[in-house]
Amino acid sequence: MFIFAPFASLRLCGESSQLSSRTNARERRRPGPLCYHRQLDFSRLPALLNVDLHCHSTASDGLLPAAEVVRRAGANAVDMLALTDHDDLSGLASARSVADELAMRFINGVEISIEWGGLQVHLLGFAFAADDVPLNAGLAAIRSGRVTRARRMGAELEKIGIGGCFDGAMRHAENPNLISRSHFARHLVDIGVCRDVRSVFESYIVPGRPGYVDHQWATLEQALAWIHGAGGIAAVAHPGRYKLSRPELRRFLDEFKGLGGEAIEVVSGSHSADKVALFGRLASEYGFLASCGSDFHGPGESYIDLGKLAPLPAGLEPIWEAF
Ligand code: AMP
Ligand code: MN
Ligand code: MN
Ligand code: MN
Repeated sequence: MFIFAPFASLRLCGESSQLSSRTNARERRRPGPLCYHRQLDFSRLPALLNVDLHCHSTASDGLLPAAEVVRRAGANAVDMLALTDHDDLSGLASARSVADELAMRFINGVEISIEWGGLQVHLLGFAFAADDVPLNAGLAAIRSGRVTRARRMGAELEKIGIGGCFDGAMRHAENPNLISRSHFARHLVDIGVCRDVRSVFESYIVPGRPGYVDHQWATLEQALAWIHGAGGIAAVAHPGRYKLSRPELRRFLDEFKGLGGEAIEVVSGSHSADKVALFGRLASEYGFLASCGSDFHGPGESYIDLGKLAPLPAGLEPIWEAF
């Protein structure tokens, strides 16, 4: 997404920055002199940055290794990227090193699985210290719960006559500790049970379907404490995807805010234009920072590609201004 971002103009004065030489080249082509000064009315500047703060690699349920995700983002002219693997930070180091090579701004990210009101909800953490001990210990605990759940999923699928799914799913998981429903879905497509991943979810591995296994993830409080304890900022991932009534959604946002949650993902690959508008309004009302991300998992398996997002609605405070 291309957005107006004040700090982008910092670079025009030649201040040191982690931002991209490609972006600088783009800016150099822009007419007219500009210099950073706090009194400038930046809202008049054209959109400058392509920001994507939500994507996955093989460190969780993405299809591409972290380094390739970053290279693809570079090819798609992304200026600022956060890799947000589920419950795992192991892709961050290689992603950052490629981002450095490309002079792309890279933000540490993670998508933490929590349980709220009986639903699986995802929280994004950004710009935290990746070596933080409680954060890493919390994520390790979620991962060990994943392996237990996966064994139970394999057993449930076996009961309906589809054997070998735990091993089959594991063969798709580059990071076995991060075994996920996506890996089961890919295996079930491979063996011809469904024609695509989406159909597997609908028919087998969502609540009410035979291969679904309920799981107690982290709590909202825990995930926020880990993110904040590591110096990070928390955002509700794709709030439009949860099966929450409007009052339940508000209760969730109230609780998130009450516990210090700072942001919501307004623009997501999985949000329609109506949802972008709705969550833009809610971000304003609650005073949340606004985030945006493709939720790219891999070619052919995602809503949209890296860096191909619609702009944030006007008047919101972009989360990256807080990084
Ligand atoms: P898990 O964390 O193992 O419960 O798996 C959740 C992941 O499955 C999400 O992060 C998505 O990548 C994927 N997923 C969830 N629902 C669907 C769906 N309806 N269609 C395709 N992928 C989905
Ligand atoms: Mn996923
Ligand atoms: Mn998610
Ligand atoms: Mn995601």
